[in-house]
Amino acid sequence: MNSTDRLQPLRTALAEITDLATAQANLHWDYQVVMPPRGAALRAEELATLETIIHERATAPALGTLLDEAADNLNGADPESDDASLVRVSKRDYDKAVRVPGELRSEMARAGALGHEAWVEARKQKDWAIFQPHLANMLELKRRYVDCFPDVDDPYDALLDDYEPGMKTSEVARVFEQLKAELVPFVAAITAKGDVVDASCLHGAGAFPRERQEALIRRVLSRIGFDPAGWRLDVAVHPFATGLGSQDIRITTRYDESHLAGAFFGALHECGHGLYEAGSDPALERTPLRGGTSLGLHESQSRMWENLVGRGRPFAGWVLPQLQEAFPAKFGDLDADGLYRAVNRVERSLIRVESDEATYCLHVILRFELEQDMLAGKVDLDELPEIWNERMRDYLGIEVPDVAQGVLQDVHWSEGIIGYFPTYALGNVIAAQIWAAVRSEEPDLDDRFAHGEFGPLRDWLRDRLHRHGRKFLPAEMIERVAGRPLDVAPYISYLKGKFGPIYGLAADR
Ligand code: ZN
Repeated sequence: MNSTDRLQPLRTALAEITDLATAQANLHWDYQVVMPPRGAALRAEELATLETIIHERATAPALGTLLDEAADNLNGADPESDDASLVRVSKRDYDKAVRVPGELRSEMARAGALGHEAWVEARKQKDWAIFQPHLANMLELKRRYVDCFPDVDDPYDALLDDYEPGMKTSEVARVFEQLKAELVPFVAAITAKGDVVDASCLHGAGAFPRERQEALIRRVLSRIGFDPAGWRLDVAVHPFATGLGSQDIRITTRYDESHLAGAFFGALHECGHGLYEAGSDPALERTPLRGGTSLGLHESQSRMWENLVGRGRPFAGWVLPQLQEAFPAKFGDLDADGLYRAVNRVERSLIRVESDEATYCLHVILRFELEQDMLAGKVDLDELPEIWNERMRDYLGIEVPDVAQGVLQDVHWSEGIIGYFPTYALGNVIAAQIWAAVRSEEPDLDDRFAHGEFGPLRDWLRDRLHRHGRKFLPAEMIERVAGRPLDVAPYISYLKGKFGPIYGLAADR
């Protein structure tokens, strides 16, 4: 019997767990896209039941035995092979899962549901006191969670690892310190130039009928890789992408008839996530290796298509005639340089999800710093809103008028999602590293984009990154695809090279 045959019992067990997780993702998609509101109560029960079954199977001692036997049966198989990777990655998942008592998991789930409700109310009333005890409780539970991993160097490592496997807090802190040192003065220099970029083409009451936006988006996405035989595009209040298999990719966006950029760039963003999911090697289907290696790598793909491609000058030249045809009143008199400038307008904003490429990472760094201090018990939660406001002043030079537009703006903490925020900024950094690598190997990409040809970039990404799924840890994957470890330099030079000319900054800035 060869090693693949000996792995069959493990493959079967993992395939069933993967099927259950896919069914769960399918129910989530349905919940957010098509379910009528009154279905919510029953859906919550279904999801909880599935979660219990998945958890039981993923932590079953029998699975642990299969994993140990499989490791013995690999007989020196190439560590990069699918078999060795399946055993290694599944063993890592298993070892993590069994460390956390089921009772703590249920307590966190319950606290997340109550916390979410309190957060909705607190935000509505702009009253921090409503949410504060829930955050305190969640932090206590998170400390107990961290205690399940006594071998971590830094308590925050245990949280970060759930989203960015193997990444260390010290590494993220080093990268974010460099980013902050560059971005704070850079954003100040840009905003000192005043409001010199005209983005009025992207706004206008009722100027962008939904069906025209959708037709345009479908046309653009089909050039990038959206294939109706294996993809869906739908509407969701909180847009997201999910891969139910490499041949079943669901992406969503939301339309605002008075503002074009939200749906358009949101769709490009989710399409980037979709391409990563679609690009997994078919041999990884129904295994835990299918999909993306981490949230940071995933976000590098969405940001690349949204910003580095979609907000680039060659793309502006290609898409402008289509915009002029769809919305002649808004784009009829515009040239491609004008469109390029409009989609790259920098504005210090209170809200992370509305912020532009230049300011985005500062919103994330603020949250990363506060999360570490909160977890370590270094922050008096009474004072958290004021600390938040002070940092917004220091990093972005902006005054926060109320908690709803400040410390209460994001849903994450209410649901116990702590350690996730850094992945958004890591995505930008990684995207720029990959961008530098692909452009040095494929020097004619700009020319291709100018003609609406995106296949060369898509195929390169699939070959270097997407097809590997979860086989490698993020740090290994970054080195493989970008040729070097995590590094902020390409991102900083990208930002300066782009926004310096738009805002007329001196070249050394
Ligand atoms: Zn994303």
